[in-house]
Amino acid sequence: MKVTAIETIRVGEYPSILFVQVHTDSGLIGLGESCVGVEAVETFIHESVAPRLLGQDPLEINRIHEVLHQDFIGFAGSGVAVRAASAIDFALWDLLGQETGKSLNQLLGGKVREKIRAYNTCAGSGYAKGSSNIDRNRKAQIGTPDAAEFEDLLAFLNEPEQLVASLKDMGFTAMKIWPFDEAAMKSGGQTITPGDLAEGVDIMRRARSAAGDNFDIMLELHSLWSVPAATIIANAVEEFSPFWIEDPFKNEATDALVRFRRSINSPLTVGETTGTRWDYQRILSSGAVDHLMIDPGWCGGITESVKIIALASVYGVPVAPHDCTGPVVLTVGTHLGMSFPNIELQEMVRAFYYGWYAEMVTTLPRFKDGYLIAPEGPGLGTALKPEVRNRKDAMIRWSKVE
Ligand SMILES: [Mg+2]
Repeated sequence: MKVTAIETIRVGEYPSILFVQVHTDSGLIGLGESCVGVEAVETFIHESVAPRLLGQDPLEINRIHEVLHQDFIGFAGSGVAVRAASAIDFALWDLLGQETGKSLNQLLGGKVREKIRAYNTCAGSGYAKGSSNIDRNRKAQIGTPDAAEFEDLLAFLNEPEQLVASLKDMGFTAMKIWPFDEAAMKSGGQTITPGDLAEGVDIMRRARSAAGDNFDIMLELHSLWSVPAATIIANAVEEFSPFWIEDPFKNEATDALVRFRRSINSPLTVGETTGTRWDYQRILSSGAVDHLMIDPGWCGGITESVKIIALASVYGVPVAPHDCTGPVVLTVGTHLGMSFPNIELQEMVRAFYYGWYAEMVTTLPRFKDGYLIAPEGPGLGTALKPEVRNRKDAMIRWSKVE
């Protein structure tokens, strides 16, 4: 098999998402995806990836993974080169699965479980309509809601009791909320006022009171805080037993992570913004984290995720793949969750799952009673819906073998 073309597809309505299709001389098409800064990723794919991938055998995944991580600069972290390589890696595994008739979880060694527990990240329908790199304030996060249901960001701010009831009705046993973000916008994240602290704490109190004991609440801090401010918040919400405190500040401050974890009694998770196994080794060896997040679309793809998950297992740290990005990342994460013993949870956003995700791809992981089940078809088990390419706001670029 040879790669004959790489096609990138963006749509104006969802500026954070990019789909990548790797075309081959066998007629098979592999699907990849990237999220955030996608015009840069698109450009990088056509400028720097295409010359190395066109004409190559796409089933030589390990070799291509090495080649795409040999850039002179930008090969580490979760920058554009790593995100581009991640999107391509998805498509190569998809092609391997289609060629062999095996699903991704079979290719990864087979299932260790039939389904993976999911938690709902309480974003609303408008959350994906802006670029999350640009604006973190509440108005931008709420965006322009267009759905009659699952406006979960507004719900956790205003009516956490109804939100918890609605999630429980669907079988969810866990949710993630971020009631302190707006306070960080006001103060620059260096300090939190007693009033702002009380406002966020009240939401946590109401959520826990409605949830009872058998429902987990993750507190997301979006790396917006200083160490002392994050410590004040974490200690103030401890009585509501958060399942984890997520991304209090940029995890590159490894010493600060250690200091922070020693000052709090709640479990800590970081990792979704991190790329490549060397950076995960830095986090894991610090001893500061209780859980680890990975985003297969940002960390180096499926190939790199497998190495990071193995590394986490050595440290006894369970892994939770990230979503709130796109339907292909959700699908990849669900396959990983069915294949690796030390994966504990899969993130999902029901406002996206029942909203725009279903407009983009043919198949999604099946959600049932609080769990996700990966598609059974070969490869990722999903494909870009043909109508996406025909949308009026579609922007399509090709690199082809001459
Ligand atoms: Mg997060």
